[in-house]
Amino acid sequence: MKWWSLLAAKLALLAALHLGLILWINGFFPKAVVGLHLGYSFAVFGADLFLFVIGYALWLDQKYRCRKCLSRLRMPLAKGSWSHATLFGHPQLEWICPYGHGTMIQDEVHLSGADPDHWMKNDADFWKSFEDSWRKS
Ligand SMILES: [Zn+2]
Repeated sequence: MKWWSLLAAKLALLAALHLGLILWINGFFPKAVVGLHLGYSFAVFGADLFLFVIGYALWLDQKYRCRKCLSRLRMPLAKGSWSHATLFGHPQLEWICPYGHGTMIQDEVHLSGADPDHWMKNDADFWKSFEDSWRKS
C-alpha cells in the first residue's frame, strides 16, 4: 500500500508541476495556440519533454523500491547465463530489500517484448532459506 501511495504522490507532483509550467508559459503567451504560435509551441513541447524526463526519473526511483517499506532495493545478483539465454537459465538480476521483505527479479533478455519485473514477498523468517546450508557444515 505504501508503494502505491508513493506512486500516487509522485504522479500528483508531476501533474501539479505540469499545470504550473503550463500556467507559467501561458503568462508569457496570452491567447496563443499550439501549432500556430512557434514560440508558444516550443515552450509547451519543451515543458512536456522536461516533465517526461522528470517522470522517467521518478519511475526509475519507484521501480527499485521495496513494495513494503519503500527502501531502495540493493545487492543486485546476476543469475543465469548469456550463452543459454534462449533455452535455460536466461540472465536475470535479483534485487533484494535490505530488510528482507522481498525480492525483485528482473529479466535481462526480452525476446517477446518487455517482460514485467517479478516481485516475490519473502516469508516472515527471512533466514529460513539458509538454514539447510548451516546444518550441513
Ligand atoms: Zn522492505
